[in-house]
Amino acid sequence: MPIAMQSLHYRIAPLDVHAHLFEVTCTLADPDADGQRFRLPTWTPGSYLIREFARHFVQVAASCNGMPVAITKDGKDSWQAAPCTGPLAVVAQVYAFDLSVRTAYLDATRAYFNGSSMFLCPVGREGVRCLLDIDPAFADALPGARVATSMRRDGAAAWGYGRHVATDYDDLIDHPVEIGTFATDSFTAGGVAHDVVVTGARGVDLARVSRDLARICQWECDLFGGAANSAAPFDRYIFLVMAVGDGYGGLEHRSSTSLLCKRDDLPREGESAISDDYQTFLGLAAHEYFHSWNVKRIKPAAFTPYDLSRENFTRQLWVFEGITSYYDDLALARSGVVAPERFLELIGRTLTNVLRTPGRHLQSLGDASFDAWIKFYRPDENSPNAGVSYYAKGAIVALALDLLLREHGSSLDALMRELWRRHGAAGAGVAESEVAELASSLAKADLADFFRRHVEGVEDPPLAAMLANVGVTLTLRAGEGARDRGGKPASLVPPPASWIGAKYPASGEPRLTHVYRNGPAARAGLSANDSIVAIDGIKASSEGLAATLARAGPGTRLAIDAFRRDVLMHFDVVLEAAPDDTAFLTLTNDIGKDMLQRRVAWLGA
Ligand code: ZN
Repeated sequence: MPIAMQSLHYRIAPLDVHAHLFEVTCTLADPDADGQRFRLPTWTPGSYLIREFARHFVQVAASCNGMPVAITKDGKDSWQAAPCTGPLAVVAQVYAFDLSVRTAYLDATRAYFNGSSMFLCPVGREGVRCLLDIDPAFADALPGARVATSMRRDGAAAWGYGRHVATDYDDLIDHPVEIGTFATDSFTAGGVAHDVVVTGARGVDLARVSRDLARICQWECDLFGGAANSAAPFDRYIFLVMAVGDGYGGLEHRSSTSLLCKRDDLPREGESAISDDYQTFLGLAAHEYFHSWNVKRIKPAAFTPYDLSRENFTRQLWVFEGITSYYDDLALARSGVVAPERFLELIGRTLTNVLRTPGRHLQSLGDASFDAWIKFYRPDENSPNAGVSYYAKGAIVALALDLLLREHGSSLDALMRELWRRHGAAGAGVAESEVAELASSLAKADLADFFRRHVEGVEDPPLAAMLANVGVTLTLRAGEGARDRGGKPASLVPPPASWIGAKYPASGEPRLTHVYRNGPAARAGLSANDSIVAIDGIKASSEGLAATLARAGPGTRLAIDAFRRDVLMHFDVVLEAAPDDTAFLTLTNDIGKDMLQRRVAWLGA
């Protein structure tokens, strides 16, 4: 009988809140007799970029029964300790001052961490049970603070410091921890208690947030469980919300999510309408919650198991992020939190985003997924020309796939349920070709051509015709400048006459952030980062440029002076007719009973 490996023991404490330093200890009773090796993840699941968290490890030391043990770095994210009998304790000072949801933060107001950037993993002990002591020293460093995490408590009081337990290292790093003064509320969905924890905002109508989230969460539980079993796939869930002046982001975990939002995104006491900002917040929450199934439990085969030391390539991120993005908007409407028209507006905006990305003609969704590690997470001035987002285009292709499946008597709902049935409990990953095969099998027709054209190929799906079939009209129009994100009919009469083929801020200095390939600006020689200083000899502004474009017809010649770095250059730009790159969707009036039935089945009441 092999001897069971003993639990790993982790402890985290504040070392110096003003210097943003945690002290993190990993102790193992029975280190490798040849010398124990340790690794730190170099990326964190859900965020597909090599982040090299080890760069924030300021100091690492090892000891055995109080005697120092040599420990040396033998790679960018690995350490080798000299042989010792044990117990071996490794203590790290970790710098934490990142307000994002991906790593860690510590100051005199708040501590927050993801285990992937904090906890060393002794090589060979990945499957061993982990105990985590959240040190009561936090109580002195952060007076009045409480602890919020979905990690199972093992002696710690509710919201308190003390011992927590994880089944293995993968579990240990999948429960972010928030330590601070926060407001909480709770609700039940899928038969399970859900907590909402909000840090950084006062006067939030938390009861309303809970009420809306409860409907969305219940709808998602029902979607995956079907009528028979709408239970949630966890035994508790926490939304950890950090509200800041300006920010947006979310990261999914197995039984919690970290959300970063603007304070203005959260509803105040006394408000009742669903603002655009609050809808954005609910969409983000719905998105990360949907990941509880789609990517946390239904995973691409390439992620089973994760290799946290290197890139994990898959052509399926569009399935896990694009389909999730489609459902985050749809869930708001189908759960009855917003009217179907609001969902159509969101789809219109997403489609507008895709239509304004010429790179979609060059990069397929499969390629965008595969190259996420070097492209999507590293956008630059050429990104719209060279590629496409597997979130936005993925959501549009998910919409098209849903409508196609519905034409064949099935739906994307059925496909997600089947993926859940096959992969949810079993843990085996989704093979690269499986979604296409499953779609054909549900449709009882060969849908390979759809995937060839729109997932592995770069063709736009024929959305106007597909939407017409469910009583929705898709209209394209010219964009009305930097603030026009689409989703709504034109507001300017007459619409803007021409287009310069570049993106610039809505106000202030017209510094070109992107120049579209083959557009008027590009043809004249203008480049991204050029700062336009004069148009036809008159001082330029973003507002002035927009007004010129609204007025001047196609074929108009503009004499543009611009700085490239510190060099003044002159360009003659010939304007073109503004393209119809802005979409909005409307419910079609006077449709037949069958079509109405199809629309209701898709959008809800
Ligand atoms: Zn996502």
